[in-house]
Amino acid sequence: MSEEKKIPYKIYLEESEMPTQWYNVRADMKNKPAPLLNPATKKPMSFDELRAVFCDELVRQELDDTTAYFDIPAEIQDFYKMYRPSPLVRAYFLEKALDTPAKIYYKFEGNNTSGSHKLNSAIAQAYYAKKQGLKGVTTETGAGQWGTALSMACSYFDLDCRVYMVKVSYEQKPFRREVMRTYGASVTPSPSETTKVGQKILAEHPGTSGSLGCAISEAVEAATSMEGYRYVLGSVLNQVLLHQSIIGLETKAALKKYDIQPDIIIGCAGGGSNLGGLISPFAGEMLRGEANYRIIAVEPASCPSLTRGRFAYDYCDTGMICPLAKMYTLGSGFIPSSNHAGGLRYHGMSSVVSQLYHDGLMEAVSVEQTQVFKAAEQFARVEGTLPAPESSHAIRVAIDEALKCKETGEEKTIVFGLTGTGYFDMVAYQKYNDGVMTDYIPTDADLQPGFASLPDVE
Ligand SMILES: *Cc1c(COP(=O)(O)O)cnc(C)c1O
Repeated sequence: MSEEKKIPYKIYLEESEMPTQWYNVRADMKNKPAPLLNPATKKPMSFDELRAVFCDELVRQELDDTTAYFDIPAEIQDFYKMYRPSPLVRAYFLEKALDTPAKIYYKFEGNNTSGSHKLNSAIAQAYYAKKQGLKGVTTETGAGQWGTALSMACSYFDLDCRVYMVKVSYEQKPFRREVMRTYGASVTPSPSETTKVGQKILAEHPGTSGSLGCAISEAVEAATSMEGYRYVLGSVLNQVLLHQSIIGLETKAALKKYDIQPDIIIGCAGGGSNLGGLISPFAGEMLRGEANYRIIAVEPASCPSLTRGRFAYDYCDTGMICPLAKMYTLGSGFIPSSNHAGGLRYHGMSSVVSQLYHDGLMEAVSVEQTQVFKAAEQFARVEGTLPAPESSHAIRVAIDEALKCKETGEEKTIVFGLTGTGYFDMVAYQKYNDGVMTDYIPTDADLQPGFASLPDVE
């Protein structure tokens, strides 16, 4: 008991203890994630093909399956110092409320203006674009966290930032839009008339409120048709997981400071970047046969790519102009039910996370949104922080695992990723508070059209 008292509520790293390299888990994977394919030829995308869309250095990172560590450039380390290290918090108050013998820790990534972990990769991507001498970057954003993070990163490096924002979010989340504009980004509701693919989608579906896949198509077209611009993406890609490994490396260093050995590591899974970043160093140990952990990916029951999807090559976007990725997917034609308020609505999953899951290195569970918000409410009331709905998926399963420990009396150590804050998600919280939030689990028949949209590869 007295030994336990030594663990502070928040474990911070000194500046001198912060990671100076990112870790690339692909280097330790025996089964490498499948390569991106050219949608026209179905052949692996070459460096030259990819560099028409993405920044050169980011393409190198994307294609590198063998280098285990990448130096974090000094400029990025400096930026990280503004909001990192993020604290690893011992959830003493939650443990007490649950009356569990489990020890719960969470890595909190919400302490920056963008409110989420997405800034970790945004700053890296903006840095490489600037270093290449580009004028600017384009991207899409759904709920707005990625667009906000990227606009902050671009303003730091004085780059033009053009964001295609899913129209329904543009209209329903005006404050996110204004944060982006405050940082100098231009924000266009998608689909728009400014791109050919946007015009086509509007002609086929007049009055559509847009989707992430559609905004991606527009952003890619904009980047490839303007001189000095490239496209950047906030999740799914290998390069993004590489940058997000800062989360797992800091977590590991903080745990080591107090000789804490985790049993269970939990993360929410949308495109897989925070989960991949959190677990990478731990999965690396498992792959090298040095340690064993239970890793759990948590996804919404209404968008269940890992638990009910197919492991197949699929389009990353609606317009089918992006490379094909092999991943657990519901099909690029899948759109979550309109009552879904909890985020994590992308149809596919990072190839790295998909391969690790396929090889049995992690489990996946899906949870219903009312249960997610119940966990969010409980967490907010005892731990103080108002969590993002996305992050609350991980809270849900951390609580469930801690309650199992209460039954069995096991003192397991649980670590989960608290990816962000929920201040811009109050419409979803309002639904929950008003008691009008419902759960919807797609039937097998509901999933069929998405699977039917899968390309015929392999
Ligand atoms: C974007 C986001 C996620 C999901 O994205 P991943 O790439 O799966 O990590 C989770 N939590 C928050 C707060 C986000 O903004």
